[in-house]
Amino acid sequence: MSRGDRHANVAFFVPHLGCPNQCSFCNQRTISGQQHPPSPEEVRWICREALDRLGERAAQAEIAFFGGSFTAIERGYMVSLLEAAAPLVGEGRFSGIRLSTRPDAVGEEVLELLGNYGVTVIELGAQSMDDRVLRRNLRGHTASQVEDASERIHRHGFSLGLQMMTGLDGQSSESCLDTAARLAELEPECVRIYPTVVLKGTLLAERYLNGAYAPPPLEETVSLGARLLDFFEEKEIPVIRFGLHASREVEGQMLAGGYHPALRELCEARRFLFREQAVLEKHFPKGWAEPVRLAVNPRDISKALGQKRKNLQLLEQEGWRVFMVQDENVGVGRIQLKHS
Ligand code: SF4
Repeated sequence: MSRGDRHANVAFFVPHLGCPNQCSFCNQRTISGQQHPPSPEEVRWICREALDRLGERAAQAEIAFFGGSFTAIERGYMVSLLEAAAPLVGEGRFSGIRLSTRPDAVGEEVLELLGNYGVTVIELGAQSMDDRVLRRNLRGHTASQVEDASERIHRHGFSLGLQMMTGLDGQSSESCLDTAARLAELEPECVRIYPTVVLKGTLLAERYLNGAYAPPPLEETVSLGARLLDFFEEKEIPVIRFGLHASREVEGQMLAGGYHPALRELCEARRFLFREQAVLEKHFPKGWAEPVRLAVNPRDISKALGQKRKNLQLLEQEGWRVFMVQDENVGVGRIQLKHS
């Protein structure tokens, strides 16, 4: 059972099955923390158990098939999982079925089929809209396939989710920002962003160990994450996940990369740091002798200060001594200069 990102989901991971290739970064078994694919009986049993646990909240929850490439798995097995889940959606006990898959595995025929089984949201692993990056990381599909698949998903009446990565081999920050802009044009209902984590047993691990590839440092990942979160917020597209779920499996298998148990919080604090810098730069030269008071809504105070007051320390290094105060009258997400 996963808490999901906005509400409770009953999540099943279908590791590795159905993938026509092996992406440079992927070791699904580690990411999902599960070694075997779920059986239809397990789906039924776990969903029933979740119904008991969630009570009325279940009607807001989705049954989710994440992990591999759901629509590319062996058709009989895929249908058996959907048959196990669909009756619970049909009876209105769960709100729908959500699944993730590859952009080259959502043809007309499979979309027709999914529509018959209560599927509501299809998430595509786009990862990048830069064909050069896609090729370098052996994704096995192109950016235009992401666009075509998104159009089909909308046309068949499903909600669209899009997933992108940062820090892939050959992927610059500019390329990531360009990917974000192109994904936004496809009008997804939500986005997930995954900074690359180099896991043992992957091609990226090989390239990392022989010096051919290095993931961006965490600081860079956090700053880029802050810019991406700002961008999608401006476009009113919720980012429902940023970074891999913290887990012992990932920590045990990870060699390097954009992983931190509180990665999203670090990015949210960095967004505030950028705003604080903008306010200060506008009003005070660096090295300003007087302390400056900035006010934020009480809900934002920990983001405004940063983890272990890191934002204040960075501002001080840049030449501004800042006191952060809380003020209910300041809008959430905003910063106000206080003239004392
Ligand atoms: S398509 Fe997805 S599950 Fe398959 S190898 Fe690539 S990242 Fe892994």
